[in-house]
Amino acid sequence: MKKAMTLSYEVGQNLYINITNQCSCNCIFCIRKNEDGAYGSDPLWLEHEPSMEEMQNDLLQRDLSKYQELVFCGYGEPTMRLDFACELAKWIKSVQPEICLRLNTNGLADIYSPSQNGKASDLVSEVFDKVSISLNGGDSETYLRVTNPRNKPDNAYQTMLRFAQDCKKNGLDTCFTVVDIISPDEIKLAQEVADTLGITLHVREYVS
Ligand code: SF4
Repeated sequence: MKKAMTLSYEVGQNLYINITNQCSCNCIFCIRKNEDGAYGSDPLWLEHEPSMEEMQNDLLQRDLSKYQELVFCGYGEPTMRLDFACELAKWIKSVQPEICLRLNTNGLADIYSPSQNGKASDLVSEVFDKVSISLNGGDSETYLRVTNPRNKPDNAYQTMLRFAQDCKKNGLDTCFTVVDIISPDEIKLAQEVADTLGITLHVREYVS
């Protein structure tokens, strides 16, 4: 495993932000099982969790105005540092108010990284413009098999769905994703769940 301090990396028109390698899940499709980076990036395994100063210094070296979106994605689950992510997002908005901020998340912050400052969906909605949530299945059984959340809590699927609904209700541009590692029938079921909640579903191709 190669380590570096790659705190941001370009993907197409967007800049991806890597604030943590921590994750509460062990998804069967996780790119981290096969690579040290993503989309041709430098290694994304971090030598240490970046401080706010390190993140700001990294981002100040970029022309943030040229990106369509800044995506909190990481090589891990960004909400494992939920308060840090929100504080950084606020700082980015202070230096680049027009920027579109997206959070890519497993939607489980209320289980694995509860904030003292409030519900995850409310905190996220204060600073982010978009949220992309891993739906990963159309029922709890598929979800737990694909996502493998730590200790497999019975309420994981419902917690993730509630997070998505609350983000949408709060006005965030909200979407779900599934990876086509699940069967067509399972994707169909996931689509039905997304349709019922009025949330767009993106089916992502599995990258091995
Ligand atoms: S939530 Fe993301 S980082 Fe965590 S195991 Fe799943 S795909 Fe990997």
